[in-house]
This record gives sequence, structure tokens and C-alpha cells, in this order.
Amino acid sequence: MRKSYKSKKKLPDSQLRILAKTIHEGWPKSRKTCQTEAHLFWTIQHELSTNKEFIFKGKRLVIIKILQPDILRPLHTAHLGVEKTKQRARMLVYWPGLNADIEQYVRNCQTCARNMPSNQREPMISHEIPCLPWRKVASDLFTLKNNDYLVTVDYHSRFFLSRQTQLHYVKGRHL
Ligand SMILES: [Zn+2]
Repeated sequence: MRKSYKSKKKLPDSQLRILAKTIHEGWPKSRKTCQTEAHLFWTIQHELSTNKEFIFKGKRLVIIKILQPDILRPLHTAHLGVEKTKQRARMLVYWPGLNADIEQYVRNCQTCARNMPSNQREPMISHEIPCLPWRKVASDLFTLKNNDYLVTVDYHSRFFLSRQTQLHYVKGRHL
């Protein structure tokens, strides 16, 4: 008898939980008998792996539905257009419909729309400086020599921390 899957508590999204279970226990012979949550991944099933906490497509982290909107923003933070945003995504993350979601996100991006006609630089936006440290922070992702980093800046002191990540921190931040 198979060992039962033990990491349910760590996987809050049913899509991810069912997908991880399917990868762990083996895919059914037919797509018809596949659970709805795993259906979308049927054609790429051989590229998927799980460490019971996260799911990967090759080296890319599979992002669950509830976190997808939060990942689109940092992917497009440099406002480099659809193709560059897709390229960045292909190195880091995956979900079914990712390309279409990027296209829609960039199409609706106000900053890109503002800068399109004259290709002007994005204007500096000033922020109110909080009276105490760590009251307000900003964070973003960047890639350096094929490693991904999460950088967090304190608005009060301008002190910043950067940390190498595989997007696990990003996932944790929103849960
Ligand atoms: Zn943009």
C-alpha cells in the first residue's frame, strides 16, 4: 500500500494539493480519469516534479492560482514589454495560460501605456517617509548571473536586504 501524502497542511490551494498528489502517486492512464485540477497539466506531466511542498516544471516553480496576480507584477517590474516579461517568466515560474496572462497584464499596464508614445522614462514617484524604521517597506525581484534575488528596502532608513531566492520567499510572503 502506498504511503499517504503528508504535506496537505502546507498546500493551501486545492489545485496544488491535488496536482502534487497526482505527481506523487502517479498519473492515471487516461486524461478523462484525471482530477479536474490536474487536467490542465496533462500534456506536460512528464516535466513536473514535486518535493511535496512545491511543484516544478523543470526548474520553474509552478504558481498556484491565488498567487498568480502577485507574481505578474514583479515579473513586469522593469516594464520591458511582453516578450521580455515572458522571457523572465520562462526562467522562473509556470502556470497554464501564463503567456496569455502576461499579454493581458502588459496590455493593461498604465506605466507602459503612458510611456509608449514618446518612450519617456518612468517619472520618479515620491513617497512619504515614515517616522519609524520598518513601518513601510518595498520589495522586488531581480536576476543576477542566473540567480534570483528578493530585495527589501526600508522607506525610513533606506536600509536594504537582499536574499537569494527560488521564489519560495515570494510565495510565503503572500500566504
Ligand atoms: Zn508596464
